[in-house]
Amino acid sequence: MEPQQRSPLLEVKGNIELKRPLVKAPSRLPLPGSRLKRGPDQMEDALEPKKKRTRGLGTATKFASSHPRAPALTTVPQTQGQISAPKVPKKTGPRCSTAVATVLKNQKSGPAVPAQKPCTAAAPPKLGVKKPSKRPAWDLKGQICDLNAELKCCREKTQTLDQENQQLRSQLQEAQQQATALGIERRTLEGELARVQAQAEQGQQELENLSTHVLELEERLGTQEGLVQELQKEQLGFQEERRRLATLLEEQERRLQASEAALSGSRAEVASLRQEAAAQAALLAERGERLHGLEMERRRLHNQLQELKGNIRVFCRVRPVLPGEPTPTPGFLLFPSGPGGPSDPPTHLSLFRSDERRGTLSGAPAPPTRHDFSFDRIFPPGSGQDEVFEEIAMLVQSALDGYPVCIFAYGQTGSGKTFTMEGGPGADPQEEGLIPRALRHLFSVAQELSSQGWTYSFVASYVEIYNETVRDLLATGTRKAQGGECEIRRAGPGSEELTVTNARYVPVSCEKEVEALLYLARQNRAVARTAQNERSSRSHSVFQLQISGEHAGRGLQCGAPLNLVDLAGSERLDPGLALGPEERERLRETQAINSSLSTLGLVIMALSNKESHVPYRNSKLTYLLQNSLGGSAKMLMFVNISPLEENVSESLNSLRFASKVNQCVIGTAQPNRK
Ligand code: ADP
Ligand code: MG
Repeated sequence: MEPQQRSPLLEVKGNIELKRPLVKAPSRLPLPGSRLKRGPDQMEDALEPKKKRTRGLGTATKFASSHPRAPALTTVPQTQGQISAPKVPKKTGPRCSTAVATVLKNQKSGPAVPAQKPCTAAAPPKLGVKKPSKRPAWDLKGQICDLNAELKCCREKTQTLDQENQQLRSQLQEAQQQATALGIERRTLEGELARVQAQAEQGQQELENLSTHVLELEERLGTQEGLVQELQKEQLGFQEERRRLATLLEEQERRLQASEAALSGSRAEVASLRQEAAAQAALLAERGERLHGLEMERRRLHNQLQELKGNIRVFCRVRPVLPGEPTPTPGFLLFPSGPGGPSDPPTHLSLFRSDERRGTLSGAPAPPTRHDFSFDRIFPPGSGQDEVFEEIAMLVQSALDGYPVCIFAYGQTGSGKTFTMEGGPGADPQEEGLIPRALRHLFSVAQELSSQGWTYSFVASYVEIYNETVRDLLATGTRKAQGGECEIRRAGPGSEELTVTNARYVPVSCEKEVEALLYLARQNRAVARTAQNERSSRSHSVFQLQISGEHAGRGLQCGAPLNLVDLAGSERLDPGLALGPEERERLRETQAINSSLSTLGLVIMALSNKESHVPYRNSKLTYLLQNSLGGSAKMLMFVNISPLEENVSESLNSLRFASKVNQCVIGTAQPNRK
């Protein structure tokens, strides 16, 4: 062999070295029909972990990659027979399949076997048979043929690996899908877990609530148990009580039975009593009827009696000598007994007047002149207010029966007129005057008559007439400040009834109210007195009580005024007095008083004489009393006398005036019935 010449072995080796990239080159080309879209590099990358795992096998991989070289290095000096030693090809097949198996094993799932086929198909033993060691160095064609075979084997191997790769990819995809599914499942489970946890928390909360509730219930149970014990105790008490009541009930039932027996007896009794009551009621009604008839008869007889006594009556009252006054000569006033003896109420009065101007022929003083008077009744100085009222109570009763009544107090100032009418200055009930007594009497009789079906109402007014002006004694407030002046007017056009305009008409129903009115009148008079100099004694005070009675059941009505008049002092002015301005005023007052008093006398006379014209209008007093004088009216005049000798002249005047009145008889009175 020549050194310039390349040995055929080196040439083959050089070819092999040259052709080494040829082994890889085809693998970079896409395999016909391969579905892989990635290149072999990418595939190798994808298989990188497998390679790593395969490296663990050590020499096997090295052997596989160095496999083409090994024969070249070793087979150069060897024979064909030596080259065909079965060691290498035998080892290559199993190692290759082991490596693939290892990869597949690492993939766990996926087909394991198909990868072996190409390796087996690569049939290294064949290659080994056709190895260059068999061919001579110049057999390039043969060598190319071998290399082609080797290339084919590699291609098959690549194909196998592609298939594996594909399988692995599908496995990976599957695994990814599984992972996704597992992820979804995990999220679902996490949601479920959260829900379960929330439920658990809620359950815990509920448990806590229930525990609290249980505690509460236990507490309540404790209380209830205590209560139950108490109730049990109470029940025992009740049972005891029940037993006692049962015994009592039995007792009561026994008594009830007895009572029922008694009741049936009583019922019969009640029935008979009812019959009796009905009979009594009928009797009562009959008696009521009779009573009414009797009441009417009483009224008629009462009136007849009053008429017999006289529609105009005159009582004389002599006041006692007051402390500090001179004691009159004994026998100055005498009250001779009536025909019935001292027990008879006196009706005669003798007044003895000694006249110094008259003398006897012997020069001795002339004996006192005796003046005798006779009246319906005389009240000597010791007579009490009650005694006086007793005598007029019947007359007051007439007012209730429907007859107008006028009671006058006539006399000089200081003779006891106001005392008689209103009473003493103090609050001594013994000294109570006619007005409060008369009203009390009326209220009490009205009360009695109410049981017979009569209802009465009373309205009071109180005025004074001074110098022919009328003034309200019950005025209050501004009316009082203005002087309380009033006018007498007819109640309505064509009406006979008279009324005092602007005067207060106060309904009264009890003594207290009357007392209050009398007190108010006294106050109003006191004011006037300071201003007008004893005006009270220079004026007439007229207390009027309008009485209205009604018997609703029988449709009866009756009404009449009761007038209680405290007249002005009847004294005359001493003609010998010098007439100063004050006296002139007094004279004017006196003339007014005298005029009205004489008009009163004239009216009474005219009524007595049944004259066609009665001069009521000649004075305010008679005009105001028009409806209470004459006709059906009853009149009583108190002539009040001073017991003092110094007042003898005035006393005589009063007595003479009263005597004239006493002689009058006014026609038969007719009650004011409607
Ligand atoms: P008149 O009103 O007539 O002017 P009074 O009623 O004011 O007279 O009486 C004058 C005085 O006499 C008063 O102090 C009164 O108390 C007293 N008086 C009058 N009458 C009586 C009597 N019957 N009993 C006691 N005192 C009387
Ligand atoms: Mg008086």
